[in-house]
Amino acid sequence: MRDKRVDYKKCCLRQLNFFKRAMKIEQGKSPEISFKCEICRSPSSIINILPIRQQDGKLNTLACDKCAEKSGAFCTTHQRPHLGFEDGTTACKVCIDEKVATDTEKITNEFFSKIKNSPHKKRILEELDNWADSVYGITGLPYDVNVSRAVVTTALRLKKTPEEIVDQVSKEGPGVILPWAKEKDED
Ligand SMILES: [Zn+2]
Ligand SMILES: [Zn+2]
Repeated sequence: MRDKRVDYKKCCLRQLNFFKRAMKIEQGKSPEISFKCEICRSPSSIINILPIRQQDGKLNTLACDKCAEKSGAFCTTHQRPHLGFEDGTTACKVCIDEKVATDTEKITNEFFSKIKNSPHKKRILEELDNWADSVYGITGLPYDVNVSRAVVTTALRLKKTPEEIVDQVSKEGPGVILPWAKEKDED
């Protein structure tokens, strides 16, 4: 009987520690209890939550600094994990913001001059109008910024340049930057 009670107490303590640790992680602090990196399996006091799916279905991978930097899902310039996307690709949010802030004019000029000669011109403009309208309703960002953001995000996810993405949209259709338009591209 006595042993059981001890076990119960231990179990409660363990749960309490688990929640304490989880709360600290949620607040963005590293817990002082070391954890095991899910990539190299060595203990580490720093946790990076990477948007890398695991075989058991988990959507994130907890990694030490070294593994994070090598993972491809961590921005070494901004020292932060990437955002994860549904198809498994990732990109740094700050890199997207910076590129959009500096290059929007250049990107949209190129975009609209290329699209003029695209065989998919009508569909590209239709899909973009619908999408940019609905995004504007949420974020209030101007049309050009939304178009440039879609191009830049796709470029960083696919590790290509914005120019390459603009080319691809003009050749393949709006599905390149607007994933839900993809099915119609393939019809
Ligand atoms: Zn590691
Ligand atoms: Zn970055």
